[in-house]
Amino acid sequence: MKLLIHGGFFSESDQSSETKLAKQSALRTIITKAYAYLESHSAVQTCTYAVSLLEDDPLFNAGIGSQIQHDGVIRMSAALMDGTTQKMSGVINIEEVKNPIQVAQKLMEQGVEDRILSGPGAKLYAEKLGFENFSTETPQRRAEFEENKRNEGKGTVGCVALDQEGRLAVATSTGGKGFEIPGRVSDSATVAGNFSNEWCAVSCTGVGEDIVSNGTACKIVTRVTDGQSLKSAFEKTFDELKTINGFAGAIGVDAKGNTFHLDSHPSMVYAAYDGETLDLFN
Ligand code: ASP
Repeated sequence: MKLLIHGGFFSESDQSSETKLAKQSALRTIITKAYAYLESHSAVQTCTYAVSLLEDDPLFNAGIGSQIQHDGVIRMSAALMDGTTQKMSGVINIEEVKNPIQVAQKLMEQGVEDRILSGPGAKLYAEKLGFENFSTETPQRRAEFEENKRNEGKGTVGCVALDQEGRLAVATSTGGKGFEIPGRVSDSATVAGNFSNEWCAVSCTGVGEDIVSNGTACKIVTRVTDGQSLKSAFEKTFDELKTINGFAGAIGVDAKGNTFHLDSHPSMVYAAYDGETLDLFN
């Protein structure tokens, strides 16, 4: 079994040792809990569980603690992909739910044909399923917004997992870039930011426009599917990202249990765990 999680990038303006220690401690706790969960759950269930824990932590820009958009409103996006069925589900720009990834999970579990919903339609679907109205705004994010403090790359979250039965999955959730024009679509609920099949699973963070332009996650997965090693698929894809001066980071796992992560800029916040060794960003 293999598990990797990420919590986005450190922003230029917030690299204090206090924040770093807090993020390290949060990732350590979350990956340990999620790995224990993986012992008795599938990869897709575990990705949802891990991303829910990350959404609940205000340190990260997803769920509680999401960035605020240009018009003062929070709109979140999240997606889940089961590598075995190769089905993706997601919500784009949903407002006022605590765990967007759990709405994506319902869309997958319910077997509905329309599995990626946006805006008011996504919210209505969640309400019908009993998701309560929940403000994910924190005083810190409101203060940053009022001060016009732009913290690009503050911390989209993601998880990739390989379970006991060799199944792969990925989940990604974000509050977006912050200050974006309402209606802007993040990469997190697209195949560029979140993709898996039976060979590989990849979750991205960074500037959504760059990740989409580069087709990052689906490109890495396709390369692995076509026989390239995970490491070289990552490196080739990040070389291509450089040609557009792109800003991104990604975590990945393949069906053989190889894991890899890479970032184009310092420093992606990540953790990887296989039940024995914990690899934590520093
Ligand atoms: N990828 C996210 C977006 O562009 C932001 C991030 O990862 O921090 O919406």
